[in-house]
Amino acid sequence: MSQPPPTSAFAPTPDPLTLNRDITHAHFQAGDTVVVLKGVANGELWGDAMRVVAPSWHTPTDEDGWRLRDATGGAQSYVTGHPRYLVHLSRRCPDCLIYLRAMEDALLARFAGRDELIDCGWYTTTALGQLVHIADIRSGR
Ligand SMILES: [Zn+2]
Repeated sequence: MSQPPPTSAFAPTPDPLTLNRDITHAHFQAGDTVVVLKGVANGELWGDAMRVVAPSWHTPTDEDGWRLRDATGGAQSYVTGHPRYLVHLSRRCPDCLIYLRAMEDALLARFAGRDELIDCGWYTTTALGQLVHIADIRSGR
């Protein structure tokens, strides 16, 4: 995984997968290392690696979320994310690997031959530290 990029002005790339993930809150626990996928770099998926800290209410979806610590997050070192945004890094996890492979299938061909870091523009962080996927904003929740 690569380092996060500077803020990107790219229009968001469609992400049909993340919002349809069937993953429970209990799939994760404090101490897990996870990644939030954000785009493609050098023919691989990249994202922000974070540590799961504690249960926390995810206000954009009104569902149970997780408090996350992003060691490179600067002023936004702590954010709250929805479980479906997270992919396990700390253990080999079939559920997360299926999603990872599906994201690779959806994205790597699309950006084949491009060397630059591509931010797909899926996530924003609210002023209250809530990480929110663009599709969760559009659905009005
Ligand atoms: Zn997992």
